[in-house]
Amino acid sequence: MTEIISMGMNGKLQVPNNPTIPYIEGDGIGPDIWKASVRVFDAAVQKAYGGEKKIVWLEVLAGEKAFNNSGEWMPEATMDAFKKYLLSIKGPLTTPVGGGIRSLNVALRQELDLYVCLRPIRYFEGVPSPMWQPEKVNMVIFRENTEDIYAGIEYMTGTPEATKLLQFLQDELHVKNIRFPATTSFGIKPVSKEGSERLIRSAIEYAIANKMPSLTIVHKGNIMKFTEGAFKNWGYELAVREFGGEVYTWNQWEATKKESGEAVANEEMRISNIGGKILIKDAIADNFLQQALLSPQDYSVIATLNLNGDYISDALAAQVGGIGIAPGANINYLTGHAVFEATHGTAPRFANTNTMNPSSLILSGVMMLEYMEWKDAAELITNALGKTIRNKKVTIDFYNLMKEAILMKTSEFADEIIRNL
Ligand code: NAD
Repeated sequence: MTEIISMGMNGKLQVPNNPTIPYIEGDGIGPDIWKASVRVFDAAVQKAYGGEKKIVWLEVLAGEKAFNNSGEWMPEATMDAFKKYLLSIKGPLTTPVGGGIRSLNVALRQELDLYVCLRPIRYFEGVPSPMWQPEKVNMVIFRENTEDIYAGIEYMTGTPEATKLLQFLQDELHVKNIRFPATTSFGIKPVSKEGSERLIRSAIEYAIANKMPSLTIVHKGNIMKFTEGAFKNWGYELAVREFGGEVYTWNQWEATKKESGEAVANEEMRISNIGGKILIKDAIADNFLQQALLSPQDYSVIATLNLNGDYISDALAAQVGGIGIAPGANINYLTGHAVFEATHGTAPRFANTNTMNPSSLILSGVMMLEYMEWKDAAELITNALGKTIRNKKVTIDFYNLMKEAILMKTSEFADEIIRNL
């Protein structure tokens, strides 16, 4: 009988011992990195639970493989499987050029209302990094995934819609400061209280569950007061209302810190302290990007809107080795739906070369195992991957940047991780 992961009445995932989990191997380098990754997942689960637990993998099609098979980029059956089985994992997909679906990933996020884009940023010793102390970087980004300027409400100048919107703004709302009205395109930035709250609530719950020291709301509220600024304010209010946080002004906070003899970071921010354990603070996005380089140790969980999150995710990932190793997930914590994925693209030039780094997909599998609360298996993989890199047995991307490294094919790198489990 097929065993299915479900969402319990208590809001917690119910994970059977032999859950069916759909996977999309992906296009380009996808098949190479998937084949390597799945062997690592199976070996780790076997080692952690001695046969008591095992994932039943179900292949579903999307992208080029689906298109060649059925003429559809995202077949209905695939979407149905993603809905039914709650969790899924995928390699990178080609974005179809011209017409049809804008992006398969966007389609998935919208259809399943995956409102959190989760990107953990952690350093593995030995990974080539542009930072001089990359080991100080340990952050988890909660990027809002359904709103903001990314909602796709955009009008090209000269279209009837843009003209109509311009008229409305000028005549009804008396907007006077559109600099070049005749040639202006428009983009609209919807940010809701509900959307902001569910994102920040999930981030706080994650911080509590994982004993993270702080949560920083990153925003541009100094400029965009009713969208970015409201996001920040709704976040603080939620922390107080639902988690019993206490709000301090900056001066009050400094005074309490002085009393206890602790150091205060040199930033202007409002702070609420949840149960005396988690510090909630905020930072303006441009300053945050600076501080994340200068004092990354001061940041732990990050909650931010869609556009900021996009930039921040890649900027922080670069600090710890970038594209080949950064994992990601898109999650709806309320329904339980979650898609775990490699964050890089299909690198089509390297398809079927068995040379690319599977770490991004492997670590997204680790995130999936953690989400399932199969933490022993997750930890085994994280440690084995760390050991493999410390031993300088790496794929070409790291090999080119490391001294005295040993070059591994994708499959050999997976063999080495399995040996190190
Ligand atoms: P890309 O990530 O595929 O490649 C950029 C470069 O990064 C590559 O040339 C390669 O040198 C390097 N790289 C990528 N993955 C690597 C890995 N695992 N190991 C080592 N090096 C790696 O980005 P692109 O060239 O802009 O996009 C190619 C295609 O992928 C496009 O169709 C794009 O739409 C799609 N894409 C998909 C996703 C996704 O499915 N999540 C994400 C980004 C891009």
